[in-house]
Amino acid sequence: MRHIAIVGSGPAGYYTAEAAVKKWGDDARIDIFDKLPVPFGLIRTGVAPDHQSIKAVARRYEKTAIGQSVRFIGNVDVGGSVSIEELGSLYDAVILATGAPQDRPLEIPGARTGNVFGSAAFVGWYNGHPEFAGMDPVLSGKHAVVIGMGNVALDVARILAKTEAEFAGSDIVAHALEALRGSAIEKITILGRRGPHQIMMTPKELGELGTLDRAAPQVDPADLPPVADDAVLEPGVRKSVTLLREFAQPAAADRNAKPVSIEFDFFASPRAITATNGWVSAIEVERTRLETGRAVGTGETYNLPADLVVSCIGYRTSAIEGVPFDQRAGHFANDEGRILPGLYCVGWAKRGPSGTIGTNRPDGYGVIDTVDEDIAASSGKAGRAGFDELAQERGIEIVTFRDWQKIEEAEIAAAREGAPREKFVDIESMIAARGA
Ligand code: NAP
Repeated sequence: MRHIAIVGSGPAGYYTAEAAVKKWGDDARIDIFDKLPVPFGLIRTGVAPDHQSIKAVARRYEKTAIGQSVRFIGNVDVGGSVSIEELGSLYDAVILATGAPQDRPLEIPGARTGNVFGSAAFVGWYNGHPEFAGMDPVLSGKHAVVIGMGNVALDVARILAKTEAEFAGSDIVAHALEALRGSAIEKITILGRRGPHQIMMTPKELGELGTLDRAAPQVDPADLPPVADDAVLEPGVRKSVTLLREFAQPAAADRNAKPVSIEFDFFASPRAITATNGWVSAIEVERTRLETGRAVGTGETYNLPADLVVSCIGYRTSAIEGVPFDQRAGHFANDEGRILPGLYCVGWAKRGPSGTIGTNRPDGYGVIDTVDEDIAASSGKAGRAGFDELAQERGIEIVTFRDWQKIEEAEIAAAREGAPREKFVDIESMIAARGA
């Protein structure tokens, strides 16, 4: 019997479990740990609440989760209540699928000013992540600035721009919906340090900005390179740039009819946050130009009014004691998923925060092939029975998949009309909801 521990129950974790079941069938026992009492990681707390079709992939993970050989063990802090060494002594392979839950820091003066957030925190807030649910961003100012030109920046801008009616069918948490209902934001500026050809936004997601009820995207035609230059672009980027060209010529009637504008500010690099009484009031921006693909400051600066700033500039994996970490790259130091003998990583924890959810599938299958090359069919380690003993000794209150199903039933029962669920946003309520 092979004993496998997967740390993290998001897409990378569940695709890895699925691959392990395919590879070894009943000759393996797979335990999937999560720090939260609820599974699915990024699917629950990262994917935007108005993108329910993307969240539906959780149904596939559920099929893996309820299989005979796979077990979910929620509410266990690996690296905290249980160490990596302890897991290593119990399981033949420990696979870290912990994602990249920390914000890449915005390293400019004033970045810690009030109402300035990183996207991990801001997205966690509107998605009900227990760590960020109590964050309370102030939306009473007119100007929001979103830094970065990736899909997370798009998610944040769109969520800030939507009307309450546009959240129908979403699982945005009640506290965020309430705050957005009272929002006074009229202008959302998306800052990109490079140009239209360098955006990381994918066409489907970018296209959504063009169909919002009360908000219209705006692009300055002067920022766009000649159309002929688009020919060299990869097809996805070309489609996105074509959309930017459409946003550069919105019908005047349309522009005036919509009270919220979403302005793309290209060649604009944030330099400092200005605070008034500890709260953000403006952001100093330096104009850039491109030199061999890199943004270079021109020395020309200007101040953009800002009452809320959300920095969407990428993520880092959280380090775990005893696990080699590549500080520069922001993920575990690894060679094709191998970290140390018996210790592996997969997904964003292995390669950084890029790609789609589906990118984690080949990653998961790949790491299981690697583990299969490395470990014997049977090592005699204690596996889950050993973990259960340890958890009992230590008084760790573990949450099972059956418990999660009860929590989920309670969330579904609490949903407002038309919504799929109302999430519990604190750990105590989640644990209480599983019942006796
Ligand atoms: P991303 O795609 O890597 O975009 C990060 C953006 O931040 C880039 O525009 C980058 O500009 C900018 N940036 C980085 N450092 C900066 C700095 N110091 N100052 C100013 N700008 C800076 O990352 P992401 O948006 O966080 O997305 C992460 C992954 O999740 C991506 O693969 C994304 O596609 C995926 N995702 C997908 C969806 C979806 O499919 N619906 C939704 C959300 C996220 P440079 O290019 O100049 O570095």
